[in-house]
Amino acid sequence: MRPTYLEVNLSQLKQNLENIRAKVAPAKVLVVLKANAYGHGVDGVAPFIAPFADYIGVAIVEEGIHLRKMGIATPILVMGGTLPGQLPDFFEYDLTLAASSLDLLAAAEQLAESTRKRLKTHLKIDTGMERIGVREYEAQALIEKSLACSHLEIEGIFTHFANSEIMSLRGAIAPKQPPVNLEIAHLHWRAAQVSAEERRLATTSSALQLERFQEVLSIYEKLGAPHPPIRHTANSGATLSLPQSYYDMVRPGVMFYGVYPARDIKRTIDVNPALTWKSKVVYSKITQPGRGVSYGSLWQAEAPTRIVTIPCGYADGYFRRITNQAQVVINGKKYPQVGRVCMDQFMVNVGDDDVKVGDDVTLLGDGITAEDFADWAGTNEYEVMTNISARVPRVFV
Ligand SMILES: *Cc1c(COP(=O)(O)O)cnc(C)c1O
Repeated sequence: MRPTYLEVNLSQLKQNLENIRAKVAPAKVLVVLKANAYGHGVDGVAPFIAPFADYIGVAIVEEGIHLRKMGIATPILVMGGTLPGQLPDFFEYDLTLAASSLDLLAAAEQLAESTRKRLKTHLKIDTGMERIGVREYEAQALIEKSLACSHLEIEGIFTHFANSEIMSLRGAIAPKQPPVNLEIAHLHWRAAQVSAEERRLATTSSALQLERFQEVLSIYEKLGAPHPPIRHTANSGATLSLPQSYYDMVRPGVMFYGVYPARDIKRTIDVNPALTWKSKVVYSKITQPGRGVSYGSLWQAEAPTRIVTIPCGYADGYFRRITNQAQVVINGKKYPQVGRVCMDQFMVNVGDDDVKVGDDVTLLGDGITAEDFADWAGTNEYEVMTNISARVPRVFV
C-alpha cells in the first residue's frame, strides 16, 4: 500500500455519534455522509455507522445511489438540489427527496402516481440561506400542495441555518420573548443594540430562522392538518448551542467527524477527530546554503541542514498554498515544511535531527489539528477534510 494514507478511527466516530445522541435524545440523528464522508472515506464509514444512524444525509443523488449499491438500508435523504430528470433514481433506489420547489413536488407526485411507488419526501423550507427551498413567506402553497399529494409519503419538513456557528451573535440576539412581528421587531431591536458587523448577520440569525420555521409549522395548525412527523433544522452549530432547534431530528456533519464548526463555539458535546493523515520519509539529505529548495527556490538554508522529502502533495489535497507555513510531526516532534509544496511531494526541515528514510510522519493528527491546517490554507476545517483526494488510501481501524 501507498505509504501516504488516512487512518480513520471508526470507534471514535461511533463514540462521537453516541455523545451527540445522548445530548439530543429523544430527537433522532441523521448522520451526514456527503462528500465521501467529509473526506474520511464513505466506503468504510457508511457500512460501520449505518446501523447506528436513524437517517443518512447526502448532498447529491449519486451519493445516495452509491450507498444503496453498497447495501446500506438506512433511510437516505438527498439534501441538495435535484433536477426533475433525476427523480426516477429516487424511486429506483428508495432515496428520500428534498422537495425544494412546487414544481419538483408536483413532478414527484406525478411520477409516484404513474409508478405506484410512494416516495419519501421532505419539504425544504428556505428561512435564510437563499440557496434552495421555498421561502417561509411562500410556504403555504407548498404545504397545501403537499397535503394533496396522495401518492407521496410526506415524511419530513426542514430548513438549514446560515450562521449557526456564530456564538456571540446568537447570545446577543436570542430574544427572551419572541417578538410578535418578528422580522420588523427583530431588526429594530438589533439596530439598537449591536455592532454593524452583527447587524449584517442579523438578517439571517439562527433565532430569526427558527422563528420563520416555526411560522411555517403554524400553517399546519391553521389548516387543521398534522405536520410531517420529522421536522429538522439543526446542523452541528445548532446541535451544540440551540436546543430549541432539535425538533424531531438533528443533522450534525462536521461534529460527527470530531471537529467543531467554529473555534469559539461552546463545546457542549464532547467529540474528537477520527482522522490521522500519515506518511513516511521517502528521502533524507543534508542541504547546503545557496541551494534553493523546490519550485521557485522560495526557501534556502542559512546553514547546512537536513531536509527530508514526504511523498504527498497538492494532488493529494496537501494544499499548495500552505507552502512554508505547514508543520508535520516526525518522531513526536514538530518540524516546518519548507519550499513550494509540489504536486506529489514536499520537503521538511528537520535541522540537526537524525531523521531517516522510512520514519513515520504525521501530516494531520498527533497534535496537528484541522484548525491548524485551515489557518495555514486560509480556509475552514470542512475544506481541509473534504479536499483530501481519492489518491490517498483510507485505512479503517
Ligand atoms: C452539510 C449539511 C449539514 C451538516 O452541516 P455541518 O455544519 O457539517 O454540521 C446539515 N444539513 C444540510 C442540509 C447540509 O447540507
